[in-house]
Amino acid sequence: MHVPPLPRAGRLASLLLALLGLLLISSQLLGRLDFWLYDGLTRSRFDHGDQIGITVIAIDEKSLAELGRWPWPRAYHAQLLDKLHHARAVGLNIAIAEPSTQPEADQHLAQAIRRNGRVVGPVFPELQGRRLVETRPLPQLARNMAALGHTDFEQDDDGIIRRVYLQAGLGAPRYPSFAGAVASVADGCRRVIPPPAAPGQPWVRAEAAMVPFAGGERPYQLVSYSDALNHLSSDSFAGRVVLIGATATGLGDNHPTPISANNRGMSGVEINAFLLHGLMEGLRVTPLEPLWRALLGALLLLLADWRLSRQTAPYRLLGSYAAAALAIPCASALALYLGHVWLGGSVAALLLMMAGALRFAAGQTRLHALAMTDGLTGLANRRSFDDTFASSLAAHQRRRRPLALMIIDLDNFKGYNDRYGHYAGDDVLRRTADALRHCFDRKGEMVARLGGEEFGVLLENCTPEMAMAAAERFCRYLAGLELPHVASPYGKVSCSVGVAARPPLADTPRSLFEDADHALYLAKDQGRNRVCAARARERRT
Ligand code: GH3
Ligand code: MG
Ligand code: MG
Repeated sequence: MHVPPLPRAGRLASLLLALLGLLLISSQLLGRLDFWLYDGLTRSRFDHGDQIGITVIAIDEKSLAELGRWPWPRAYHAQLLDKLHHARAVGLNIAIAEPSTQPEADQHLAQAIRRNGRVVGPVFPELQGRRLVETRPLPQLARNMAALGHTDFEQDDDGIIRRVYLQAGLGAPRYPSFAGAVASVADGCRRVIPPPAAPGQPWVRAEAAMVPFAGGERPYQLVSYSDALNHLSSDSFAGRVVLIGATATGLGDNHPTPISANNRGMSGVEINAFLLHGLMEGLRVTPLEPLWRALLGALLLLLADWRLSRQTAPYRLLGSYAAAALAIPCASALALYLGHVWLGGSVAALLLMMAGALRFAAGQTRLHALAMTDGLTGLANRRSFDDTFASSLAAHQRRRRPLALMIIDLDNFKGYNDRYGHYAGDDVLRRTADALRHCFDRKGEMVARLGGEEFGVLLENCTPEMAMAAAERFCRYLAGLELPHVASPYGKVSCSVGVAARPPLADTPRSLFEDADHALYLAKDQGRNRVCAARARERRT
């Protein structure tokens, strides 16, 4: 029987936890967990609808049906912009980067943009051949715009858009985000439009922010382009911040977001409307960089584990780990809602849960080991011996193999205690345990302290001859240690052994035990420091 050394269970738990952590991190499952937490928190935050006064003019299916296939004549855009002359700002989220076949149409649109004076145009990176270029509105349009803003979003590993960069550009982050540019024009600022960048440079992003998506009512009003052009009056847009862009499927960009139903996606212009709303409301959610997030999570995990692992009551330990694990996403939600910082933390929470479960399991293993071990000698105790004895006996009955049981009792041990003291007696018990471990260290040999100065040895597949020889060897070995015992007629510590060995065909643990015990009695009776074999039961009775 093997009883694990006690500290090993704790070390094993820590090792397992570290391995599990590595496995989960490498499987990217943990990154997804934070997304899941963030999306859940985002959906549970409710906005109060259109408070800023944002209108999204959507190039939708209805407009395409009424105004014809895309692209439309630029005169439509010019006409719409004239209608929007009392708007606070107009984000024209339509790429007009190629000259029209009718140059006067471009001229006409440029003049409408100048007349409006508050139009913001889009910039985005595009791959031309193998070079990255910056796609901007035609120069004569850009020249008349109040600002340019980039419309680049970053997709997370799961393809969902949660973050945006408030500055980005080719070679350098030269442009504000499209929504940021519209917000500053709405506040009365004109942004200096930088000259086009040389192609072939990398696209650089700075100032990450979470798009402030929220559940509930959308924070903007949505109207069809065709209605805005043909039916609504110019007053409908007075004082409002207007974004114009495609929402029809297959026309503009469409991305899944935390709040888009069934991952059908949301148009770029609507994502920009959320960001615009957030920026104008002063709601800017900053994500903690992934590295800092990982470090913070690791620190939290280590601190909590260090503090909580001291708890000794098993179920209280499990409860405190679970509470701490639950507190992490709660704290993360508070930081998000009140502090406007996204910390993540689901990874640390999950690992803390696992740490709790592992420490609990390790604690249970430790308790089990304690329950099966004799505290003084470290040998298996009586309970453990009885378990093994019963199962071993049953197995030997089935296989008709001989099983040997020895009961070993120290001679005149009371006298030893009286002469040398109880502590010295304890030392002798430990020395005896060492001797037993030394003499019975093979597979199929089990040693236990049955109680007091009495030990039991179980030898599997062992004939009576082999058992007697092994018992004699042990007796000689113990006596050979020459542990002084002046109160004994032998002058040294010795023992008596009773042996019962046979195929236990009709035996119970009790019958075999009683036979060995009777043999021990005979050994004591015949003068001690000797081995006696049990006689067959029928002759004995
Ligand atoms: P015998 O040769 O007939 O076995 O004589 P004995 O004195 O060994 O027998 P007895 O059963 O009278 O005495 C056993 C003694 O073992 C009594 C008790 O003081 C001692 N003992 C039992 N458990 C412990 C222990 O944990 N530590 C120490 N030091 N002594 C123990
Ligand atoms: Mg004794
Ligand atoms: Mg005894």
